Amino acid sequence: MPAESLRHLEEVRGLVAEIQRLDWFLQGSLSVVMRRCGRAGCRCVEGAGHPGAYFTYKRDGRSRSVYVPAERVDEVRQGVTNHRRLVALVQAMTDHATAALRRRPWPRRPPAPRRRRGAR
Ligand SMILES: [Zn+2]
Repeated sequence: MPAESLRHLEEVRGLVAEIQRLDWFLQGSLSVVMRRCGRAGCRCVEGAGHPGAYFTYKRDGRSRSVYVPAERVDEVRQGVTNHRRLVALVQAMTDHATAALRRRPWPRRPPAPRRRRGAR
């Protein structure tokens, strides 16, 4: 009975659709850092500093940071959350694909959904 392995393949398709809805991904982390601006007489000289958000990521083995303006913080945070979800989804897709391979007979993969046509 191929039904069980077919079910796994259909699960994969559903997860692909979820990845498309996630829209964008950032692999790294968002953090708020307190910085002193260096202006003479600014209150931050005495206090904790000004809060600034930074996106930190690794490239070529080195850690790098990008300043994130306050109005873009939510967007960046969403990208970071989406990336974590992406990693989990890829793992789940791989698990389903492997489970499908372990069944006999191997089912045909259902046709990929058509893009840009009619309803949906
Ligand atoms: Zn200051």
